[in-house]
Amino acid sequence: MKEMGLVVVGAAGRMGQTLIRVVHQMDGARLAGAVERSGSPHLGKDAGELAGIGILNVPIVEDVGRAFAGADGVLDFTSPAASVAFAGQAAEAGLVHVVGTTGIQADQENAFVEAARRTPIVKSGNMSLGVNLLAVLVKQAARALPAADFDIEVVEMHHRHKVDAPSGTALLLGKAAAEGRGVDLDANSVRSRDGHTGARETGTIGFATLRGGSVVGEHSVILAGTGERITLSHQADDRTIFARGAVAAALWARDKKAGLYSMLDVLGLAE
Ligand code: NAP
Repeated sequence: MKEMGLVVVGAAGRMGQTLIRVVHQMDGARLAGAVERSGSPHLGKDAGELAGIGILNVPIVEDVGRAFAGADGVLDFTSPAASVAFAGQAAEAGLVHVVGTTGIQADQENAFVEAARRTPIVKSGNMSLGVNLLAVLVKQAARALPAADFDIEVVEMHHRHKVDAPSGTALLLGKAAAEGRGVDLDANSVRSRDGHTGARETGTIGFATLRGGSVVGEHSVILAGTGERITLSHQADDRTIFARGAVAAALWARDKKAGLYSMLDVLGLAE
């Protein structure tokens, strides 16, 4: 099969530049386009040069139609509003859409459900193999340990530039824990604590957020019982793991029918 032509949107971002490097290295994929928002100082630059791997003859453009023409897929780690717009445009052009953007609000989710009627979308708050395996383990642990005896807390730390909290990964892990217990995360989560909160409510899933420095991503799920504590953790040292996952997701989705998929589907970890 011919190489899959992938467009990186948000090409100048931390993940955008990592994606450009990884697409260039991975077999089966080639960089077909690079998009940045209008007004970006990076428009017109060569995507490869910006990403530090030399000239690839792929200019960074703002014209999405031009970038998507002739491509096969879109790798999108941008912002929630931008990803909503890209979902419509990717579906219109019939391209696979891989969405890694986090902080997407409940009222924005429908845009992806709608677009997924027309094209395959793989969407995940974390594209790494390790975190998706961790989610499976968290679900098993939450299922095995009674909610009356074990309190679940999700702790995360990210670099100082991150704009959303809790992280998409923390929410993904919280959702796995809620599924293990057979409860709804939104109805049972405690997103932050401050002041006189009262005692911990049995069965809730708590979140704690740390921000600082250059931390790529650290997550722990703590299951705390009386007299014992289980901690399941993942540490990301390098953004390449997310980019490799995103390219693998695009290659996997290439021959799939329209639908909304997760990384668990891509990795064969879905139950
Ligand atoms: P970042 O460095 O701020 O990069 C985002 C890029 O998208 C920026 O260059 C931004 O441009 C650009 N952008 C925003 N709106 C755009 C639009 N309408 N058209 C084109 N480009 C647009 O952020 P990051 O650290 O790379 O993270 C990006 C997202 O990926 C975040 O939501 C983050 O949480 C998520 N993420 C997910 C995973 C995962 O595995 N799922 C892993 C890492 C990060 P401006 O700077 O001009 O706004």
